[in-house]
Amino acid sequence: MPATLGAVNVYLIKGPRGVGLIDTGMDDVNSVKELLGLLKKEGVDPGSIDQVICTHHHPDHCGIGKTLQGFGARVLMSEPDAGSLALFLSKPEMDRQRATFFGRHDVPDEFCDRVEAMFPFFRKLQESFVPDGFLSDAQIVDMGGIELEVMLTPGHTRGHICLIQRDAGLIFTGDHIIPGDATHVSMREEVHGTDPLGKFVRSLERVRDLGPMVGLGGHGEHMPDTSLRADQLVRHHRARIERVARTLDDEPRKVFDLSEKALGARKKVFGRWLAMSQTLAYLEHLVTRGEAVEVTMDRGVGYRRS
Ligand SMILES: [Zn+2]
Repeated sequence: MPATLGAVNVYLIKGPRGVGLIDTGMDDVNSVKELLGLLKKEGVDPGSIDQVICTHHHPDHCGIGKTLQGFGARVLMSEPDAGSLALFLSKPEMDRQRATFFGRHDVPDEFCDRVEAMFPFFRKLQESFVPDGFLSDAQIVDMGGIELEVMLTPGHTRGHICLIQRDAGLIFTGDHIIPGDATHVSMREEVHGTDPLGKFVRSLERVRDLGPMVGLGGHGEHMPDTSLRADQLVRHHRARIERVARTLDDEPRKVFDLSEKALGARKKVFGRWLAMSQTLAYLEHLVTRGEAVEVTMDRGVGYRRS
């Protein structure tokens, strides 16, 4: 991935009857060069890739879908994430949604402009394409003779999927479960649906309940036991939910201010933007649980404790 963004894992599945990929990397000259170089090293001609499965619609996971389609591969993802991808690629629609979202939470104009200015950079890392087909929960995909079972794990995105190879005790977890930092869950209704945090925790419990499996995530090294890791993350998010709840009192406050109190100050615009949308995911979850109330204020909405 481009310099400051770290690295993403792309998995090559070599089956007895063909090859496929899980995730793609970003649309960045060096990323594409790296991927093609690694395929060559593995003796794989890109033209022989039958299928590519994207765990979700973020540019590091499906950024070069079109290039791979050009080599003849079918690129698949869930239907909800195909919708989010289309939205991300359609600038006027995205701008309108963003205006609604920022307006609703009365985010300062100056901050909105700085966030807005970041998006052309992210859009450049994603090729415009339409997936060749959709994957749904419990569907079995034959990847070159290797059976992968789709598990829908909404939360990080509306239609995030994990892929299970049961006979090998493996699960490809995308960004649903990664080692190190906890996965980011944010809230913008048009791209994340309602109560994404509640859905995310339930999706973590689903993976936990599969029992011990070796996890291959979208970033970082493999995880020896995804059941343990999922349980750790469930506890992490429950503690965070309590922490956000404690920042509320009887006076309604806007999410822009609450995010500093709940998740700490962030110097960079991108960090502040992520903290804000993540705080909103926690607040929305607290509203769902009846522990917080959304209040219409003079400008935009705020939140107070129930
Ligand atoms: Zn992601």
